[in-house]
Amino acid sequence: MTAIAFIGLGNMGGPMAANLVKAGRHVTGFDLAAASIEAAKADGITIAKSAVEAVQGAGVVVTMLPAGKHVLAVWNEILPHVAKGALIIDCSTIDVESAVQAHALAAKCGAASIDAPVSGGTGGAKAATLTFMAGGSEAAFAAAKPVLEQMGKKIVHCGGAGAGQAAKICNNMILGISMIAVSEAFTLAEKLGLSHQALFDVASTSSGQCWSLTSYCPVPGPVPASPANNSYKPGFAAALMLKDLKLSQEAAKASGAATPLGAHAAEIYTAFEQAGHGGADFSGIINHLREQGRK
Ligand code: NAD
Repeated sequence: MTAIAFIGLGNMGGPMAANLVKAGRHVTGFDLAAASIEAAKADGITIAKSAVEAVQGAGVVVTMLPAGKHVLAVWNEILPHVAKGALIIDCSTIDVESAVQAHALAAKCGAASIDAPVSGGTGGAKAATLTFMAGGSEAAFAAAKPVLEQMGKKIVHCGGAGAGQAAKICNNMILGISMIAVSEAFTLAEKLGLSHQALFDVASTSSGQCWSLTSYCPVPGPVPASPANNSYKPGFAAALMLKDLKLSQEAAKASGAATPLGAHAAEIYTAFEQAGHGGADFSGIINHLREQGRK
């Protein structure tokens, strides 16, 4: 099987690379952080001394990095050393503009490329149940699919260069807004003397039904697995939700789309982060809303 290079072995990249090893791939990895390197070694990943060394002889390169500037820096560094005809897959969540630029860099060097951000969090990364939303040519997608299937369970081709990132930020803008909407409803219900369970029983089978309510309920009780039952430990950290909302707002500004609720959601999560709660699960936003209410 084609050898794989994996750059960025953090909370997501580490377990994703480990799943490729479990699937029988030879994976050579690189990361700047000693802790990520140690964990990856224990999972059977061969560690290279640099990103350039990692990509030597690899037919597929995967990057899983914090933001667009990191992806562009790493792709600029490795592309001159990547084998002709190799496939580069970026799984990071980054701005659409940087994703499009990364595709152009790859094309200039004769490499195929896919932007393939993920949904499913660290739990999905460990269990190989991630959803991948991919952007790029039909041929690049066909080449990437078998690799992505070893790290996830649903792989969607969303369109051309950058379409994966576009799908990711549109989805997460819905999520950020809907979590605030559900939290506002529970906050109002509390003031009106309505129990959490009563609102859940009605809204979960009525027109208010949505994932933020039925799978990730922001109050403890109705959905036992939701972070509300575990002191709002993430889950999906509020800082990451804010990152994605900001990406959606950058894209809205650049493209001229009107997203007033997305803009307001970004403001609300900014205030939550500034109050020191960036590390809490994003459903903890309900506590922020309660604090805004009249005592
Ligand atoms: P992380 O900070 O745990 O991992 C990023 C890793 O990249 C770190 O280990 C860091 O040392 C490494 N890195 C940075 N610059 C590098 C470079 N130049 N060369 C090599 N390594 C470098 O972050 P994460 O949680 O794994 O997230 C990675 C990406 O996945 C982000 O874009 C994030 O938005 C996205 N994402 C995260 C989650 C989640 O729940 N954590 C869910 C979906 C998507």
